[in-house]
This record gives sequence, C-alpha cells and structure tokens, in this order.
Amino acid sequence: MAHTAEIIAVGTELLLGNIANTNAQMISQSLSALGINVFWHTVVGDNPQRLRQALDAARGRADIILTTGGLGPTYDDLTKQTICEVFGRKLVFHPEIADGIRAFYESAMHVAMPENNLQQAQLPEDCTIFDNPVGTAPGCAFCAGGVHVLMLPGPPFECQTMLRRCAEPYLRGLSKDVIVSHDILCFGMGESSVEQLLRQRMARMENPTLATYAKPAEVRLRATAKAADARQAEAMLAPVVREVTALLGDVVYGVDVSSLEEVCKRLLTEKGLTLATAESCTGGAIAQRLTALPGVSAVYRGGVVSYWTSVKADVLGVPQALLDEYGAVSEQTARAMAQGVCRATGAEVGVSVTGVAGPDSDERGNPVGLVFLGLHTPDGTFCRRLDLGSRRRDRIRNVSVNTALDMVRRYLSGLPLAPAAR
Ligand code: ATP
Repeated sequence: MAHTAEIIAVGTELLLGNIANTNAQMISQSLSALGINVFWHTVVGDNPQRLRQALDAARGRADIILTTGGLGPTYDDLTKQTICEVFGRKLVFHPEIADGIRAFYESAMHVAMPENNLQQAQLPEDCTIFDNPVGTAPGCAFCAGGVHVLMLPGPPFECQTMLRRCAEPYLRGLSKDVIVSHDILCFGMGESSVEQLLRQRMARMENPTLATYAKPAEVRLRATAKAADARQAEAMLAPVVREVTALLGDVVYGVDVSSLEEVCKRLLTEKGLTLATAESCTGGAIAQRLTALPGVSAVYRGGVVSYWTSVKADVLGVPQALLDEYGAVSEQTARAMAQGVCRATGAEVGVSVTGVAGPDSDERGNPVGLVFLGLHTPDGTFCRRLDLGSRRRDRIRNVSVNTALDMVRRYLSGLPLAPAAR
C-alpha cells in the first residue's frame, strides 16, 4: 500500500514570514524520492492547542507524520510534549542522552550545559531515537495506531543531517519495495510544452510514474519505479526512458546528468576539442558554470568578459569598423567575438554572447531581451538570435547562458544548433 505523509512545520517565525519553510521542501523532496506521497504541508505556530488540532487532522488523513522544529530546550519548544499527549505516550528521561548533550556543550561550545537542556533528553516511550551529531536536540520516531510519527529538529542543517542519517532509513524500512528513479534533462522546450506532449502518457502511469520539475530555464523529468528489487525496477524504467527520450527528441540533453556544462565537458573530451568563451551581457557566467566542474581545465581554455566595446575590439580583435557599423549587440559582433576568443586562446571552439539584459534598451535602441550567441568551430562560424522579451535581467542572463552551452552541446553532437519549432 502506498504511504501518505503530512509534514508539520512548527514555529511562529514561519507564520510571521520571518523565515521560509525550506525544511518542508527538503523533506518533501526526500519523501517523493522514497515513493511516499506527500499530500499535506501544515505550518503551525509555537502553540500547543493549535499543534494538537494540526496533529489530530494529520492522523486522520496520513499514515506518516513528519514534524520539524520545536524540539529545543526553551519553553516554547512543545512538539514532543504535545505529540505525546495526542498519541497517549509518556515522556521518558534518557540519562545517556543527557550525558551526550552535556558533552556536546563542553566540547563544541566550551560552556556548561544549561539545566533546561535536560528537557531534550526526554523522549516518548518505545521510540526509535534519532541521534543529532550536529546539534543537541535528538529526534525520534514511533508508530501508534498505524500512524508513524517522526520528529526532526528545526535548524535546517540539523534537520537535513537527521533526515539523511535516520529518517530516510526508518522510512525505507516501512516498505520492502525498492524505489529507482531516472532523471531526463531537457533544454529548449518549456515545462508546459513538455507536459502537453506527455500528458496522456503521464496520466495513464501509476508505476513507473513520470513527473516534470522546472529548473531555472530548463525542465527535468523524473521517471520513478517501485519494485521488489533494483533489477526489476530498472527493467520497468528502461522502456519509459526510451519512449520519453524519443518523443522529446534532441531537446533531451542527458539522462541522470547534472548539467548542460557537464555534457559539454564530456563531448569536448570525446572529440579532443577545447573551448573558450567571450561574454558580454552574461558577465562571465558561462565561464563560472564551466569552471565549477572539476577537471574541466583539460577542455576549457578560458574566457574574456568583454563588457566594454573597447575590450571587444582590443582584446578580442573585433574590427572597429564592424562595431561602428553594426553595434556591439549584433550578429556580426557575436560572430567576431567567438572567432576572436579562439584566436586569443587557441581553442578550436569559441562561444560568445552579446545582448541587452535590461532593464533599459541599449544606446542604439535595441530592445531588452535581444541576445546574439556566436559559435566559432572548425566547421565554420554560426550565430543564433534570441528575442527574450522584457523578462527580468537575471532570467535573460540565465537563458542566454543555458542557450550558449546548449549550442556547444548541439554542435558537438552533430545536431541543428537550435531545436525545431513545435
Ligand atoms: P533548537 O534546538 O535550535 O531550539 P528546534 O528543533 O526547537 O531547535 P526551532 O527552535 O523551531 O527548532 O527552530 C530553530 C531555527 O531553525 C529557527 O529559528 C529557524 O531559523 C530554523 N527553522 C525552523 N523551522 C524551519 C523550517 N521549517 N524551515 C527552515 N528553517 C527552519
């Protein structure tokens, strides 16, 4: 039977909008990877009565309740006590946990443990204790009347550490099934177009399932199968991945890869080619993405941030006459920048970006969102024009970076430099 979970985040700060409920997001991602359906997110302040109401509602509609926050030593940290009241459990003092908290204070904070921290050594009777190696409040889990209740601390790093080390193994133990997922990464088609193409297929699927997630300027599809063992799950996933990849075509840039730049690095290595970048409106963001990859120096020579027109001319050798006639934001300049950076660095492939990221149009009246991407290669020099409209500056830069990397990927894969219009 599929499990249904509810996440209850406890903390008045969350309700006041002082902090975002990032723990719920993190826990939801983890549960979804475990094949557990999360149908509810609840946020409740540090108020025992309302927490009681939230727990009553949750246990009527979910068989897994995960709480985060309110495990601390202060008077408003009421999660454990309230859960014990609602589920009819006693709190039991654990001297060994008190010793552990005392030792944590002395070694990590060099102070004696305040007495009210002893409250954290009280845990529900008959629970599984979740150690907290990065803080003081332990978490725990128990099962009452078919409902599993798991308590995690509020500070995000503590919550994450306990989730990975304790809660995920506990939840995995609830089902004998194995969950396997594969991610299909796409660039060049919006999330709604991807969904439209796959809607009928997705609606019919129960196991494996297929879900879309929008990343900034790209789309990730996750196919997930649940089976008795990994081999069986893989056998169920293989035809789905094949079919979806075939349907989407060349906008799929990889399966289980982390980024476009990772694919570019692999293709450059396979072809024995090196790359250089010449960036204007993206200000070095392509270089930054590439150089975040370990070992990329084997295929990436370097880049120039040619923000001023004089740098385009003096460093990249873009002819002044060309700049005067067509302007810095033009197809001619983008091509000359890509050629120039190959000349300057010795790279065989050069990619360039010049455009208007906004918020204002440029001095020649070019509109915000007009971007030219140049690509110089052993097979010739190419250019793509993007009309991104009046999006936010960071969106325009982000799409430009991804499109530039995608052009490199497409060239190295022998594909048309732009996806076909659909
Ligand atoms: P502590 O031992 O620090 O008291 P706790 O388990 O009682 O831990 P809270 O006091 O509820 O946790 O929260 C501690 C801090 O953790 C908050 O001030 C906030 O910065 C962060 N935090 C709490 N809940 C969340 C949440 N759901 N998402 C993101 N951050 C959170």
